Amino acid sequence: MAYIKLDKQALFHNLNLIAQKAGSKERIAAVLKDNAYGHGLEPMARMLQEYGITKAVVRTKAEASKIKDCFAYILVLADEPESDPKLTFAINDLEQLQHTPKGSRIELKIDTGMHRNGITMDQIEEAIQYIATKGLVLKGVFTHFRSADVLSSELFWQEREWQEAKERIKQACQKYHIPLSHFHSQNSAALFREGLKDNFARVGIAMYGYLEMDEVYEQPPLKPVLSLWAKRIATRRLQKGQRVGYGGDFEASWPMVVSTYDVGYGDGIFRSMRYTKDKEILGRVSMDSIVVEGEEEEICIFDDAKELAHSLGTISYEALVKLSPFISRILS
Ligand SMILES: *Cc1c(COP(=O)(O)O)cnc(C)c1O
Repeated sequence: MAYIKLDKQALFHNLNLIAQKAGSKERIAAVLKDNAYGHGLEPMARMLQEYGITKAVVRTKAEASKIKDCFAYILVLADEPESDPKLTFAINDLEQLQHTPKGSRIELKIDTGMHRNGITMDQIEEAIQYIATKGLVLKGVFTHFRSADVLSSELFWQEREWQEAKERIKQACQKYHIPLSHFHSQNSAALFREGLKDNFARVGIAMYGYLEMDEVYEQPPLKPVLSLWAKRIATRRLQKGQRVGYGGDFEASWPMVVSTYDVGYGDGIFRSMRYTKDKEILGRVSMDSIVVEGEEEEICIFDDAKELAHSLGTISYEALVKLSPFISRILS
């Protein structure tokens, strides 16, 4: 069966670079949402635990429940809050506070200009007052920047908003006697662009070995953690003029040996993919297989998601996150 190889040395190398940038490994919250960007939630969580990462960020309670034993602190970005001593829930809208049970541990998300979700600047005092009267446990406050990856003054403008938000939050917390443990705002790009600004950074893509930033910024020597491999199903000799796959799109111009490998768009590779790491894909990508020239027992489909993604007009995040959770993950 096709499989995904996770390179632990590469992961630890990336974490060393990130920890250097952030100041220490305590200042990293590892973003493991969406099956750890397609890498596999549980194997990634265990390697991060071994490295000494204590904070994780996931999307749902279902994800959190699989990795509860690996981290001291888990932030759930988008799910219904409940009172659980192990989990902290992001509050993405003022109205959500009303459905949050007493005793829940929460973090307030502040909208500093991305305008997707979060508490707006002028709702801050109301939110803090509500938290105090309802008996919710405020663990932290955070925001997300919309343009940390591109060269412009946008990030600085949004950071000024964030400074202002932090001041308002501190004042409101004092007024209502609420302790507050931390602030955080930066993703991978913001951390590498300007160093750590708050208590910790929420790092996703850099940990997996990529940064999607304008070329003007210095690219740290990160290494891809994931590679996708497929095994040979069958081999045959094509005569000149014989065609391969659905629609017969590929026609052999001379006699050649071709093999079918057990990976296809059902596993999350793109149907528009034209090349594996070393070979041209002959004809169309099927749901469960591709055909290439040769007869090796296994071939590498890709080991650089950014290169692959850019050749398909997308970003590393999308190429990775599409990978099926049913592919087995092995450590190397
Ligand atoms: C996905 C996500 C991140 C991580 O971003 P990267 O660019 O992968 O480092 C950080 N914070 C939030 C809120 C996110 O949703």
